[in-house]
Amino acid sequence: MQPLIAVVGAGIGGLTAALAFALHGGQVEIFEQSRVLQEVGAGLQLSPNATGLLDSLGLTGRLAESWHEPERLALVSGTTLRPLAHIPVGQAARQRWSFPYAVIHRAALQRILAEAVESQAGCRLHLDTAMAADTEDRLLARFADFLGREPDLVIRADGVWSQQRDRITGAEPARFTGHIAWRAIVEASDLPFVNASDDVNAFLGPNTHFVTYPLGSAHGINAVAITQGVLDKPEWDAAGDPAELTGHFGGWNGGVVEALGRLDWRFWPLFEARNQIWHAGKRIVLLGDAAHAMTPFAAQGAAMAIEDAIELADSFRRCGGDPVATISAYEAVRRPRVAKVRKRGDFNRFAYHATGPVRLARDLVLRHRSPQALAGDLDWLYGYRAGAERKEPA
Ligand code: FAD
Repeated sequence: MQPLIAVVGAGIGGLTAALAFALHGGQVEIFEQSRVLQEVGAGLQLSPNATGLLDSLGLTGRLAESWHEPERLALVSGTTLRPLAHIPVGQAARQRWSFPYAVIHRAALQRILAEAVESQAGCRLHLDTAMAADTEDRLLARFADFLGREPDLVIRADGVWSQQRDRITGAEPARFTGHIAWRAIVEASDLPFVNASDDVNAFLGPNTHFVTYPLGSAHGINAVAITQGVLDKPEWDAAGDPAELTGHFGGWNGGVVEALGRLDWRFWPLFEARNQIWHAGKRIVLLGDAAHAMTPFAAQGAAMAIEDAIELADSFRRCGGDPVATISAYEAVRRPRVAKVRKRGDFNRFAYHATGPVRLARDLVLRHRSPQALAGDLDWLYGYRAGAERKEPA
């Protein structure tokens, strides 16, 4: 009989998993609580470890119509506006890591994944259908009511707020990191201090950094500032006060502060999940932010969800559809990889937000490293290929 897979959550991780399992011959039922796939979030950077996997799902043609391939990832001083260093991407990324480094609107990526899922005979997307329960048995029974039989595997890809993570696995809830992401979509002319608005630019200043890149076919520039902050607004994506934001830019170049003070900001408190438990019972497995939400300092959250999805589908095939063996094989590979990527994010947070002598030393080191050397530092991250054809550069 065709294996039956239930996926909870039609975000980037859930949809990628659905597609990967369907391409391996599974019947996949996806449950999404939202009535429509909303335009949540803004831009995403997709590094070659993610674009290579999307390519293996046959999506590059459609994605290339929506994404933009920047030429450089530039690091710039937020105080002097002097360039500190850059990593060549564009054609250089294709040569070095075999696949593109791209930037895209999250909604465009989600739409392309959803269209691909819906074009698969073995996939069905159920919108406006939240799926949660207190125990594994009750959850499996809910699926059985809906689908006529219990699924062989339940994938919880329900994001950082995953109800199942806390209720069934007993893992700790996601916790506030003490950082806020301020997001805006703007015109290049709103940011006159940005020299090359087609590139990814990260401006580094005391306790704060600010990133810009274009959104491809979605038009506009994605602007994200990450500051310290407190959790005083109850929801994600609330309107943010520009004066509160610029209050975090003490010591920055005056032109930056003036420009940022004029923009319409959205306020995103950043949460992370450092779970020790990625599964429940014998058949429920967590994936993406539900398992391991991380801060965006390494721009890898969606990429990790995509890697998880491919690894899980391949593990299921290799383990002959045995859920216990699948989950154990998946966790054995994914835990160390996610831990290493999280560590890189923690390092970036330390380096990007450095103050005083540490900041001066950082700038000195960056100015003396060649673009090729900086690219080489990322081979383990961007050159990795999840799944059966796994490739792990040193
Ligand atoms: P989500 O995208 O959150 O999807 C979860 C889905 O589950 C949602 O659709 C939700 O409605 C649904 N759901 C929840 N509960 C239920 C339920 N009970 N029943 C049914 N459905 C349910 N990552 C990158 O790779 N590159 C970047 O450049 C990058 N930049 C970022 C910048 C910022 C400021 C932030 C905050 C994040 C960034 N990320 C980036 C991280 C990335 O956005 C996330 O890691 C990624 O979207 C997580 O995908 P997911 O599928 O796990 O969860």
